[in-house]
Amino acid sequence: MTCRDAIDILADYVDGAMPAELAAELERHLAGCEPCRAYLATYRKTGMLGAIAGRVDMPAEMQTRLRRFLSEQLRRA
Ligand SMILES: [Zn+2]
Repeated sequence: MTCRDAIDILADYVDGAMPAELAAELERHLAGCEPCRAYLATYRKTGMLGAIAGRVDMPAEMQTRLRRFLSEQLRRA
């Protein structure tokens, strides 16, 4: 699993809407990947996941900006 894969499925993981097998695979990635752990912690703290997953009403432009912000954070981590 790549970091990109992990981030794509983090929303489902936090929601608990993920098959146990896939969750286990994600956890294996997280165990060895500090940036992704930090990413997950940030998501949980800020509650931004809903916005990323499109589950919260947010203008498209803001979603784009938020995604860009988050991917910059990840690059820096
Ligand atoms: Zn990673």
